[in-house]
Amino acid sequence: MIEITGKSHVAGHWLEPGGAAFRSFNPYTGESMYGFASCGEGEIEAAVDAANRAFQVYRNFGGEAIGLFLNTIADEIEALGDQLLEVCDSETGLGSVRLTGERGRTCGQLRAFADLVIKSEWVQASIDTAIPDRAPVPKPDLRRMLKGVGPVAVFGASNFPFAFSTTGGDTASALAAGNPVIVKGHPAHPATSELVAHAIASAVSKCSMPEGVFSLLQGVGNDLGANLVRHPLLQAVGFTGSEAGGRALMDIASARPRPIPVYAEMGSINPLFVGPKTLESQAKSIAEGLSGSVCMGTGQFCTSPGLAVSIASAAFETALKASLSKAPRGYLLNPGIAASLRNGLQRLSAHPGLEWLNEAAFEDGSMKPPNAVFKTSARTFLADESLSEEVFGPVTIYVVCDNEAQILEVAEQLDGNLTASVHADDDPQLAADLYSVLEQKVGRVIYNGYPTGVEVCPSQQHGGPYPASSLSTFTSVGADAIVRFARFVAYQDTPDKLLPDALKNANPLGIYRLVNGELTKAGIQTLRT
Ligand code: NAP
Repeated sequence: MIEITGKSHVAGHWLEPGGAAFRSFNPYTGESMYGFASCGEGEIEAAVDAANRAFQVYRNFGGEAIGLFLNTIADEIEALGDQLLEVCDSETGLGSVRLTGERGRTCGQLRAFADLVIKSEWVQASIDTAIPDRAPVPKPDLRRMLKGVGPVAVFGASNFPFAFSTTGGDTASALAAGNPVIVKGHPAHPATSELVAHAIASAVSKCSMPEGVFSLLQGVGNDLGANLVRHPLLQAVGFTGSEAGGRALMDIASARPRPIPVYAEMGSINPLFVGPKTLESQAKSIAEGLSGSVCMGTGQFCTSPGLAVSIASAAFETALKASLSKAPRGYLLNPGIAASLRNGLQRLSAHPGLEWLNEAAFEDGSMKPPNAVFKTSARTFLADESLSEEVFGPVTIYVVCDNEAQILEVAEQLDGNLTASVHADDDPQLAADLYSVLEQKVGRVIYNGYPTGVEVCPSQQHGGPYPASSLSTFTSVGADAIVRFARFVAYQDTPDKLLPDALKNANPLGIYRLVNGELTKAGIQTLRT
């Protein structure tokens, strides 16, 4: 058993910072638990400075060494055993089944990135050989590949204490690309973060990595994160959380004398569209599927479906109300999320154009909210932008349209989202029209399914147009998440001995490369050495 000390881990050292004190909170009992103190400027300076020095070493480690490091982190997380699950459950209320699955996903992500860097093909090596006698000007030899950017800050998410937190997808992909990482721990699960930092520290030591390759800064209040993002040596930021938090960090990063990218994954209402004829034949099954998705994780998923768009159907309404009301109430993560959900429910129930179909009390102090469905007309929805704002929790709005044209109008008015779902087996033309609109609005279009449950694989896209993500051209899940923390470097007319292995003539890594437009593993014949 590891003792929870309330310390932060700065470049290999466990420190007790002097900033604001805070405690983690048990959603099951309402009790305060482990005590922590917040890091400040001194810890930020020490962590980023050490990360910058570590980068000069770490960036030159090959794929084998970095892969071993990532695999070792996964092993060390598993070695924490039940203590990690128990501590995390007590800080989040997510339950052991969900947390066991999330730990598996987290270790799976680390191992997938390990495989990726061991294979080395993620660097997208591309070579165009010289044509010295080209007229009117000779063509130079150009070779390009991806390389790490430098120290990366990662903001742990409250709703994924493993998979998007201290050693979640952002940390794994940033480390895989050859970058040191400074995690700003989420104040809602600091003891979980401390345990995971032990696993990383152990992997650093076992793999002889430079100590500055990882730091965990614990803290509460916006200053810590804001000042971390302002640090001049920081090169990129990964964030999962609210639109307000993500936007604040984007603005800070772009106001720096040298702006840096913030890869923020923020709010999303994940609309679900049902064609009129399909609703007629499948009202009950779609209502039940939707209800299961809304209630999953007490609605605390960025992919939770907050909107169901179709025509009027008494059968659908009855089934949706019944399923949501029958589903057991789950626990919310922390009092902040409970307060913001309470406000959201009050705002929706006070809206003159909305009806709360299964109205139920959400008692003050309770961490177990009702699973709520509201109903409104498409006309009301189209006239009020605030109805498109995410209400984080088990809440969905049934938007009743007059006809197919109005369903499409709702789709066209949508802001950027992570996902959209289409149920339209019996409405093929509407399905095609919706796909045409939705692929411009979201990162992932789902047919006959529900948005919760994000498969981690190379073809996944987790990111959509703003405000779903700050940079919709990237994904925060899947193999391509790594390219967020890398940049292309091109080498012109460079002698073989100065080139990285991925670009050398003989192709010592044996990887696929784009050579003069052809994907090949063949080496390059040239007189130049
Ligand atoms: P959050 O408030 O966005 O906080 C996430 C992290 O960012 C925390 O470490 C927070 O630290 C930091 N932060 C937030 N605002 C900041 C600012 N202005 N400057 C610097 N740092 C800042 O998210 P949360 O605490 O997880 O949940 C709050 C709300 O976010 C929820 O009620 C929900 O509406 C939404 N949310 C959405 C998603 C999603 O995936 N769409 C996920 C989680 C939460 P400090 O608080 O210590 O500053």
